[in-house]
Amino acid sequence: MEKPLYPSKNMRITQRYNVGSHIDSYAIDEAGPDSNISTLYAPFTGIIKKIYQTDANEVWLESIEPVEYPDGTIDYMTIMFAHSNDVSNLFVGKKINRKEPFYSEGTKGNATGNHCHIECGKGKFTGTGWYKNNGGSYSINNKKKPEECLWIDDSIKIINSNGLNFKKIKTEVPEDKPLTPNTPDNKPPEPNIPEEQENTEEDDKKLIFTSPKKDLYGVFLEKNDKLYLEREK
Ligand SMILES: [Zn+2]
Repeated sequence: MEKPLYPSKNMRITQRYNVGSHIDSYAIDEAGPDSNISTLYAPFTGIIKKIYQTDANEVWLESIEPVEYPDGTIDYMTIMFAHSNDVSNLFVGKKINRKEPFYSEGTKGNATGNHCHIECGKGKFTGTGWYKNNGGSYSINNKKKPEECLWIDDSIKIINSNGLNFKKIKTEVPEDKPLTPNTPDNKPPEPNIPEEQENTEEDDKKLIFTSPKKDLYGVFLEKNDKLYLEREK
């Protein structure tokens, strides 16, 4: 089962939830290692459920299967990214694999400096994906704190977590490619040892006919007659 991974290789949260433009939401702004446009990776394998291009290119990704939350909860997860300048590579219904780069930071919509606005929701995509909160902004439905949804691992450099504590995945490698146990069903095939050749008739083989030239020949055979071909080397 997938553990949703924090979507940036360099965590630099420039604005956390419940402050500034994130009042009454669990949104975070992820700005990457520098002021350039960085790539965001899918935290889990999911399907794009909605793209809202008239505002900030918001994209909702819903997990195709239940995922494991850091507190052990098993449920679907939906995540919303915003501010990419270009989402022409994406469409509703597109499948995105876990750790696949699919979204970019940007400044589209109400954004200062290249970053990605991220909101997590527990469960599947619902309704229009969001609602107007008490701060006057739109927040993802079924909002949940990012550190209660996303895991980190050693591949993620923490530059500034803005006081948020993310739980770390111990062993990441076996999750994607589980080792195949040696059960009777998948044992390697037995080596194909050929049975001993029956060559008892080799010695009393009788020469019947020697072909004078390359041609097609017919022969009348009784039941159980055996025909041998011996070719001159
Ligand atoms: Zn934001």
